[in-house]
Amino acid sequence: MRVLVVEDEALLAQQLASALGEAGYAVDCAADGERADFLGQTERYDAVVLDLGLPKVDGLTILRRWRDAGLAVPVLVLTARGSWHEKVQGIDGGADDYVAKPFRIEEVLARLRALIRRASGQLTPELRCGALALDPRAAKVTLNGAAVRLTSHEFRVLSYLMHHRGRVVSQTELTEHIYAQSADRDSNTVEVFIARLRRKLGASFIETVRGLGYRIVEPNE
Ligand code: CA
Repeated sequence: MRVLVVEDEALLAQQLASALGEAGYAVDCAADGERADFLGQTERYDAVVLDLGLPKVDGLTILRRWRDAGLAVPVLVLTARGSWHEKVQGIDGGADDYVAKPFRIEEVLARLRALIRRASGQLTPELRCGALALDPRAAKVTLNGAAVRLTSHEFRVLSYLMHHRGRVVSQTELTEHIYAQSADRDSNTVEVFIARLRRKLGASFIETVRGLGYRIVEPNE
C-alpha cells in the first residue's frame, strides 16, 4: 500500500511520513501544490493525505483537478482547527474524510486504514484468507494464530494482495503500489518477494495466474 503525503510544514510532513513508514506503507511526500498535483496524476496511490493550505497551488484546487480528471484515490484532507467551512469545502471538493489540525498521528493512521479498507471493499479491520490474517493496525501477519515475520516489502506485497483478495494483480500493479517514487524499481523483485512469502506462508496462498499476475486464495477452496 502506498500513500502520498502533501504537507508544506516540513516537521509535520516528516512525522507523518515516518509514522506511515512504520505502519508498513510506501510513502511519497510533496511540499507544494504543483509537486502534489504532478505526483497524484502520474503515480498510483492507495490514499492521499492532503493539506489544504499549500504554496503554489492550494489543496482544494488540486483535489478538484484530480476528481475532474477521474482520479478516484481516497483523499484525507487536513483542515485548520475550527474551520468548518474548510471541512465543508473539502468534502464538497471530493475529499473522503478530514482531520482538523492539530491532530494525533494515530487518528490520521486510523482514518487512512478505514479509507483504504473501504476503497478495496473490505469490511473488517483485520484481513483474512483462511488461516492467514493480516492486521493493518499493527502491521502484523499471523498464520494459524502464530506471528509471521515479514520484511517491509514482503508485508506491502501481501497487504496489497489481501486488500484485493479474489482479484488477479499484475506484477506492474504490485510494483506501483509497494515502492516509493524515490526507490529503485525492478518488477523482477516482485517475483523474489512472492517466492519469499510462499516460503514463509506455504506455497498455496499465492496463486500465479500465468501471464496475468498473482492472486491470493484460500488453500483447498
Ligand atoms: Ca499548510
